[in-house]
Amino acid sequence: MHTNELIGADVIRRNLSYIRERIKLACERIGRSPDTVQLLLATKTVPIETIQIALEAGERLLGENKVQEALGKQEALAAYGTEWHMIGHLQRNKIKHTLRFAQTIESVDRLSLAQQLQQRLEYEDRTLPIYIQVNTSYEPSKFGVPPEDALTLIRAVHQLDRLQIRGLMTIGVFSAEAEQVRPCFRLLRQIQQQALELALPGADFSTLSMGMSGDFETAIEEGATLVRVGTAVFGQRLYPDSYYWNET
Ligand SMILES: *Cc1c(COP(=O)(O)O)cnc(C)c1O
Repeated sequence: MHTNELIGADVIRRNLSYIRERIKLACERIGRSPDTVQLLLATKTVPIETIQIALEAGERLLGENKVQEALGKQEALAAYGTEWHMIGHLQRNKIKHTLRFAQTIESVDRLSLAQQLQQRLEYEDRTLPIYIQVNTSYEPSKFGVPPEDALTLIRAVHQLDRLQIRGLMTIGVFSAEAEQVRPCFRLLRQIQQQALELALPGADFSTLSMGMSGDFETAIEEGATLVRVGTAVFGQRLYPDSYYWNET
């Protein structure tokens, strides 16, 4: 496992309260209650002892990209009553293990994957909350269904009775400029509106998972109900994100 430098408990706690404060301020600016935004900590490359500090500070919701890494952490930290989301690209041969740690899969972006999930869930006789991941930046390096195909995918996934649609997820364009990423978030929200108009029984699109360390306030302004934050809490990662977002 690739680990960050160990970072002090006081730094983690300070980062967390700073993030919580910024979430609150972003919510106040647009007249929303901070309770309407969930904070998910993206823990890729972060060692167990460091995650533990965040859990002791009261955090519960965690996200991982790689299955092997997630399984070890999930087991080690189960006593904290953690909730784990799969936020990384999911390959078919990893489905079985992903279902061992993830309570929600945020990265459902193609029908073949959804069908394989359905099969495995039938075998395990259970259901699973999922989000549909949309590639709102159109960048080929990012996963997600192209926006113009999102409603078709949503309709098809809705036919699979073991998958419970609970929201949409996106990674916006990378930019230091909030105004560059805002259209990505706005697009996800538009797709949410269109999805609601389909009036699919049982489908729930209330979660908009969007916004990361560099842009979560913009995401909140555009309607995010779940923000996924890593480096702003845990510090810089040694590996570039492309390592996590690409197939290899
Ligand atoms: C790593 C990651 C995040 C968090 O990114 P930071 O910039 O470190 O906050 C959010 N979402 C996904 C899908 C990620 O892989």
